[in-house]
Amino acid sequence: MQENTLAIIKPDAFRKNHLGAILARYEKEGFRIRAGRIRWLSLREAEGFYKVHRERPFFGSLTQFMASGPVMVLVLHKENAILEHRTLMGSTDPGNADPNTLRKLYGASIEENAVHGSDSPESARFEIPYFFPESEIY
Ligand code: GDP
Repeated sequence: MQENTLAIIKPDAFRKNHLGAILARYEKEGFRIRAGRIRWLSLREAEGFYKVHRERPFFGSLTQFMASGPVMVLVLHKENAILEHRTLMGSTDPGNADPNTLRKLYGASIEENAVHGSDSPESARFEIPYFFPESEIY
């Protein structure tokens, strides 16, 4: 099934100048970039985005990290985009991620792990409109 997924190039990867390399990888792997914008999230926006994690012990640290600098938010399109992007990202902890995944290549720690990707169709249905109105997805 052709579908959209939300990706975020997180503040750590943005700071380290990995934006272009990650975008090039998306194109190389056959994702179409249907929307993209550089944003600096407020703490409130980061908290709203990650609200499913609000009871987790790392919620405060995660949301501060996500609001610590610019990010790039993207809508990626491909056959099975959600799962394909999760595979390309690799495990949450870069130390456990498969070789050549984005988190292995660009992540530094379980928190500063370079990229976000929707983990299910339900998440994508919440996350995509969180950043993009339908009219801005091309
Ligand atoms: P993901 O779907 O692979 O991004 O992982 P989760 O949904 O479980 O967690 C969301 C994000 O929270 C991760 O991408 C990390 O940035 C961060 N995170 C996850 N687990 C931990 C943890 O144990 N400690 C810290 N500090 N951050 C974490």
